[in-house]
Amino acid sequence: MPLVDMHCHIDLDKNWKPLLTKIVEQDVIVLTVSNRPDYYELGASRLQVSPNIKLGLGFHPQLVDEDFEKFLPQLEALIPGAKFIGEIGLDGSGDHKDYMEFQEEVLSFILRECSSDISQDRVLSLHTRKAEKKTLDILEDHPDTGTPVLHWFTGSLPQAKRALELGAYFSINPKMTKTKKGKELISVVPLNRIFTETDYPFVDVKPWEVHTVEDSIAQIKGVSPQEVNSNILNNFRSLT
Ligand SMILES: [Zn+2]
Repeated sequence: MPLVDMHCHIDLDKNWKPLLTKIVEQDVIVLTVSNRPDYYELGASRLQVSPNIKLGLGFHPQLVDEDFEKFLPQLEALIPGAKFIGEIGLDGSGDHKDYMEFQEEVLSFILRECSSDISQDRVLSLHTRKAEKKTLDILEDHPDTGTPVLHWFTGSLPQAKRALELGAYFSINPKMTKTKKGKELISVVPLNRIFTETDYPFVDVKPWEVHTVEDSIAQIKGVSPQEVNSNILNNFRSLT
């Protein structure tokens, strides 16, 4: 049965070619997100070598600054053709919070564009670091934009419950399986709302090693790794 890596950045590895070959050989379904619309266009010509490699159209909140407006026309043009959107979201950590107003503008713009084109049931891979409440507020203000998948979520449990009520999924990476907060999140998110991810290369785990995350989820939830894997595949199929 294939593995699923619901959030990684293959284009950020300069050896992306052998990486892709191995991903295909190892039967991994991968969502490789892009951090800016121009990277997405480059990725579209390089990365879609197999139907199991999905490419996300994104604008990473950490790359949003006062020049953000120049990327909006490109986003607007590409969104109608994009089934997967990401990496998008908000980042309130460190210096990034200085650009929060612009980040919110970009996120709202993307969600508005998604809801104005309903030709796709979209999947949104979202970054929410230190801006969980604001991200959920913006999602709530923009219903019918697609299904949110919260990547590397480190918010509170009440926030996680709120996200579940909004229909969100969570993608769990290897780092999260080792922290108290991550383990608590895994125990409250039901198997029908969970994904595995690596966030490679930000986490030094290759997409085909994502089975280690399945094993940890299985252990935390007291089920078999096979059950975790079959739920994740079902979740993927129900969104695609
Ligand atoms: Zn990422």
